[in-house]
Amino acid sequence: MSDSAAKSLSLRIRVSFPGFDLAVDQNIDLAGVTGLFGPSGSGKSTLLRAIAGFESAAEGTLRFGGDTWLETANSICVPPHQRPVGFVFQDARLFPHLDVAGNLHYSHSRSDRSDREISYEEVVSAFDLESLLQRNVNGLSGGERQRVAIGRTLLTQPGLLLLDEPLAALDVGRKSEILPYLEQLPKRFGIPTIYVSHAVNEMARLADDVVVLENGKICATGPASSILSHDNLQLSSMPFEAVTILHVTVVEHLHELHLTRVAHNGQHLTVPLIAGAANADSVRLSIRAGDVVLATTEPQGISVRNVLSGILTEVVPLEGSAFATVSVSIDGVPLKAQLTRHAIAELGLKPGIPVFALIKTASFDRSL
Ligand code: ADP
Ligand code: MG
Repeated sequence: MSDSAAKSLSLRIRVSFPGFDLAVDQNIDLAGVTGLFGPSGSGKSTLLRAIAGFESAAEGTLRFGGDTWLETANSICVPPHQRPVGFVFQDARLFPHLDVAGNLHYSHSRSDRSDREISYEEVVSAFDLESLLQRNVNGLSGGERQRVAIGRTLLTQPGLLLLDEPLAALDVGRKSEILPYLEQLPKRFGIPTIYVSHAVNEMARLADDVVVLENGKICATGPASSILSHDNLQLSSMPFEAVTILHVTVVEHLHELHLTRVAHNGQHLTVPLIAGAANADSVRLSIRAGDVVLATTEPQGISVRNVLSGILTEVVPLEGSAFATVSVSIDGVPLKAQLTRHAIAELGLKPGIPVFALIKTASFDRSL
């Protein structure tokens, strides 16, 4: 199965709680993974719950594809179990009295779609569940529980997948274990997905598009590469460091060095081994602005292996701080660097000058 065509989600909804209002008026084309990003308390879970039909206080209209799920003016409210939505919570919420196989079979048997597309075997294989099938779910690690939870949800044959901070309860090591499973979802199952998180690195790794929520309102939408690199985005309640997303192609694995060489247009980078990627595969890399060093001449005798040449295009001082965000065009792709204003002044960095961007291999560590 491959990526499906974009499905339109039309949201005109309001949810009012004492002291908090969610008010969203937005059409979103859902293709691949749409990240719903925003600080804690901004209303992400409330919005997701309203989409799934769990939020009884939701008012307004909500349409997915050609179907109306909510239209309070005409007393239409499709109950959650009649919306083809798969919801994965932060805590996996498995059935404790069933083993892993039982949890999967339960969902599979309850899906009454005659055009069943996702098979039990496919889910077991995609989430490496074979060796866990007879295990009691109480004995599973947090990461294993989430693999089962996501697999189980897929077996309900959802038309829309909603993941509410599925990694939030896991420690760093477990998070990086689960990320590859999440990464493969769009290609393997082709279900439009909304992925909620307040973590920039998860957005950078998984989201194709990002919707930013702040204080119950959508304040920005766009491709992840543009939103995360701060183009036109000021998040007053959650300042975060700009991140550049690079789409690179695998050239070769240097197994004995645990490295992978990748190409970005004509230039090469060396990154920690990307297990599971074949030569010529396209891989997404992300780089935090604070991890980029700029030089005006090509440096010699340093340990940094990755040197990209480009042209400085913009310097944006960060008000009230020591820093500025600098954009460098690397073969037309804007790479963001966070430098001190002091360094910018001393080096005479300004738009139009050629520069070398230095990035340590460790900055590309996908296990962090
Ligand atoms: P997020 O998922 O972005 O952290 P939430 O959607 O969980 O945010 O919550 C947004 C706001 O709505 C918070 O201030 C929260 O306290 C409030 N809220 C959420 N659910 C309820 C509820 N059932 N009753 C009252 N207030 C709620
Ligand atoms: Mg939440």
